[in-house]
Amino acid sequence: MKCAICKHGETRPGTVSVTLERSGATLVFREVPALVCDNCGEAYHDEAVATQLMQRAEEAVRAGVEIDVRRYAVA
Ligand SMILES: [Zn+2]
Repeated sequence: MKCAICKHGETRPGTVSVTLERSGATLVFREVPALVCDNCGEAYHDEAVATQLMQRAEEAVRAGVEIDVRRYAVA
């Protein structure tokens, strides 16, 4: 699809690192599947992936994690 941010690039399947900040916690997920713009690098996640990221972030915050870097792997 065409990138909605720069309106020039085309998105391609790839992986990106995603950083989420929640209630003072910083969580970095590596190798998250995404569609990545070949022009500006904007990453688009499908809904399932975005939901997973939110859930995992909430869980980590509840577990008292302050900073964490983990690999996103499809369970
Ligand atoms: Zn773009």
